[in-house]
Amino acid sequence: MTERRTPDNRPPAVDKALAWPGMQALIDCHGRSLVLDALRAALQRWRDGDIGDEQTLLAEVQVSVERLLAPAFKPVFNLTGTVIHTNLGRAPLPPEAIAAIAAVASGASNLEYDLDSGQRGDRDAHVEDWICRLTGAEAATVVNNNAAAVLLVLNALALRREVIVSRGELIEIGGSFRLPDIMARAGCKLHEVGSTNRTHAHDYADAISTRTALLLKAHTSNYAVQGFTSSLSEAELAAIAQQHAIPLVVDLGSGSLIDMQRLGLPAEPVVREVLAQGVDVVTFSGDKLLGGPQAGIIAGRADLITRIRKSPLKRALRCDKLTLAALSAVLRLYANPDTLAQRIPALRLLSRARTDIQQTVTALLPALKTWAGNDIQVDGCEVLSQIGSGSQPLDRLPSAALRLRSEHTSKRARSRQLRDMARQLRQLPVPVIGRIADDSLLLDCRCVEEPQTLAKQWLTHRFDPALPT
Ligand SMILES: *Cc1c(COP(=O)(O)O)cnc(C)c1O
Repeated sequence: MTERRTPDNRPPAVDKALAWPGMQALIDCHGRSLVLDALRAALQRWRDGDIGDEQTLLAEVQVSVERLLAPAFKPVFNLTGTVIHTNLGRAPLPPEAIAAIAAVASGASNLEYDLDSGQRGDRDAHVEDWICRLTGAEAATVVNNNAAAVLLVLNALALRREVIVSRGELIEIGGSFRLPDIMARAGCKLHEVGSTNRTHAHDYADAISTRTALLLKAHTSNYAVQGFTSSLSEAELAAIAQQHAIPLVVDLGSGSLIDMQRLGLPAEPVVREVLAQGVDVVTFSGDKLLGGPQAGIIAGRADLITRIRKSPLKRALRCDKLTLAALSAVLRLYANPDTLAQRIPALRLLSRARTDIQQTVTALLPALKTWAGNDIQVDGCEVLSQIGSGSQPLDRLPSAALRLRSEHTSKRARSRQLRDMARQLRQLPVPVIGRIADDSLLLDCRCVEEPQTLAKQWLTHRFDPALPT
């Protein structure tokens, strides 16, 4: 045990401590600077009276060096009920995409090299054909994410000119993506038309002038305008755009390559159908409903895609090889739509039936009861999951959850205990993230595909109600 500081229990000198064999071994392993920083902090704790002997000092240094070197990223169990959760990394990748990343990660590849001619190639070539095949677009290009796609399209097609947008579509997506701000950064002038709830054909037609570069429609992906509303369909907008010989660009947000209703899910705009309405360029995310890596896909008319690709911003916003490798693998899985619900994890999780999720809940119940102890009520209940990332904000998917409830009589004590449990679940080796609602802590099991690993943690750790908050 550590002794308290006494006048004759002075800490060792830095140089002396650094020369100890144990300290030298740490330096050989992890480098001098890290060990020195940890040692200085530990010596301060000696002076504060928290450490009193050399062995403890060495152990403290080792622990803090290891803590600094622990990976910053941790896998977690997403039991929030939000499947495509932006803060938890959105779509899980299929094994084919992970293998493709691994294959190009460690060495040279034909990223921008044409193996037939031996000449410089184009990195888009790895995905363009497949995007066109799956969407009916004439051409396509990809950038870092959909926000970048919108920025690039606006900058390439509408620099110093006007872009007409309905007031009902001036969206803000989480993480400070606001359409009016992006528009300003892209160097375009926003021309708002209509009102929040209603925008008509004549609003657009009246606004078009020689200054107009394009019409923009943004999918209202994280909210819905309901009641006395009116907006134009893609086909109606396309007719106006064509009449005035200006392009129509649609930011789809999630954008799906297949009809989600085939998987029993709420309808989402299908990229192919949107383009077939006469839309000139669409943008959508790679890691939302597509179920791939973070990317922004731009697809549409060949002449416009050529202009977009030539923009200097394209070079700044381009994808890296890992993303392109993963995306090209995921797109190829779409060749067979019948197997998608199995092979694309995001679609597999989204289309899971409640009865199946209920079985997972039942299987996990005993382990969670063990973790929670006798003073906590644990049972299963029906809940609703959501797709997440702004897809279909109002639709919910029938799901099942583990429910933890506190038995305290005071509401305050109950809610403190729920927060304590939520925190201790987050502190497990593989953190478990749930949600607090209706006076309970809910663990939606839709995204649990391997209950054993989750159960094991609950059997080897225990909730400690006495642990300070
Ligand atoms: C999600 C979304 C974006 C941003 O896409 P990221 O891939 O997150 O950059 C832009 N527009 C709409 C409509 C969206 O739903």
